[in-house]
Amino acid sequence: MKHFIGGRWVSGTGEGMLPAIDPSTGKRYAELADGTAADIDATVRAARAAREGAWGRMTALERGRILMRFGQLILDHADELARIESQDTGKPRRVAHADTQAAARYFEFYGAAADKVHGETVPFIDGHFVAVIHEPHGVTGHILPWNYPLQMYGRTLAPSLAMGNATVLKPAEEASASALRLTALSEEAGFPAGAINVVTGRGAVAGAALTAHPGVDFLSFTGSPEVGRLVQKAAADHYATCVLELGGKCPQIVFADADFDAALPVVRTGIVQNAGQTCSAGSRLLVERRVYDEFVGAMASRFAEVRVGTPEMDLDCGPIISAKQQARVQGFIDRAQADGLPLLGQGQIADGVPRGGYFVRPSLFGAVPRGNTLAREEVFGPVLAALPFDDEEDAIRLANATEYGLVAGVWTRDGARQLRMAKRVRSGQVFINCYGAGAGIELPFGGTGKSGHGREKGFAALHEFGVTKTIVMKHG
Ligand code: NAD
Repeated sequence: MKHFIGGRWVSGTGEGMLPAIDPSTGKRYAELADGTAADIDATVRAARAAREGAWGRMTALERGRILMRFGQLILDHADELARIESQDTGKPRRVAHADTQAAARYFEFYGAAADKVHGETVPFIDGHFVAVIHEPHGVTGHILPWNYPLQMYGRTLAPSLAMGNATVLKPAEEASASALRLTALSEEAGFPAGAINVVTGRGAVAGAALTAHPGVDFLSFTGSPEVGRLVQKAAADHYATCVLELGGKCPQIVFADADFDAALPVVRTGIVQNAGQTCSAGSRLLVERRVYDEFVGAMASRFAEVRVGTPEMDLDCGPIISAKQQARVQGFIDRAQADGLPLLGQGQIADGVPRGGYFVRPSLFGAVPRGNTLAREEVFGPVLAALPFDDEEDAIRLANATEYGLVAGVWTRDGARQLRMAKRVRSGQVFINCYGAGAGIELPFGGTGKSGHGREKGFAALHEFGVTKTIVMKHG
């Protein structure tokens, strides 16, 4: 798998190759180019040339049409893309297929929006005319995580391209294959050379070079809080700005008057799907004390029914992405047991999975003490921590008791309480009697605190990937 720089597939200047590993088997199945700072430099130059050349000269309507063609090509190649994604990440086939639909939707949504980023006029001093317009940053850098490679490609590139930026993408070394296949399709869609560029490789080398490059005007990063801080510092050194999406410890808050039958399957899916490797995974189950045993008991039975397997088995979830992440997730489970936390329910790994695959058993723990690691830290695996709360005030306190603030779910039939909770929970999104950030391409998404800042998705992303310019004319 090669880099894509200025419209050409090239090996780059790196000496070695990186392994692409199938997490269902633990086996290497391909090799990736190991990008260097020199490759990143060549890529940023190619992007700048595109921005100042054919891509930058296109009208918003023309850009939008190319994005929409790309969306259609993704739909046309959905089966192939889902197969690639499943092999690279271990996702069940139907989940990978759903991710292809979301990726296409990003290009459809932002393709249609490209020529609707209207400015405004502002009434000002007599004899003056004021216009406020939105322009692209120029060259944008995009660093992807491995959990939703197809979706993330669409989420971060589509709004940036719709605004007219030229883009440089560094996918995660654990899962780069679908980004490269999508990029090949982007050529067919008609993007001019240099509008989309991809360099694969290691975060500390290619990723760090991209964040430090003075030719990059804006950065979009999704990944760990630790690396997010490095990205922000590197951006600050050359006065670039960034959007950071860094994960969460999202609460599902269940009141005694909730519709349990509606909540149970959604809360379970919210932590089990994608093997819990989702920034918006509902990983804390907060339940009103007087129904705690009833609700959490029902959840324990449902957890015991969860089945983990290979993409072809197409069960509730697949393996963890890598041996490193498997050890990390299993470490949280082992530590919880060592701390004496009751293990209330555990899913099963299906018979016949390959021995070398990175599988873990989805696990429900409760009642987790409020100060325990499991109540505060992001596991990024299928581990749910249940905690009781006393009343609405206590629920707010508990929901806001982590450093994160990304997504929250509130389950209650009381309309006034729904609104009070929505206003007081510290979170970028709040779902009432439903849950799931993934599908809502139209919905602004992002965090507060350790979850990051800035917004992607929805129209908010167009403003994030643009710069506001104010023009004042004195006409007398
Ligand atoms: P990571 O933050 O190290 O990697 C994410 C991306 O950043 C990758 O493309 C990586 O190559 C790149 N990167 C790494 N170091 C970099 C650097 N110094 N400069 C620039 N780019 C760099 O994440 P990880 O190690 O793959 O996973 C660790 C934890 O991160 C997970 O356990 C999880 O908690 C979190 N995570 C969150 C998300 C999310 O969606 N918010 C996604 C993946 C991982």
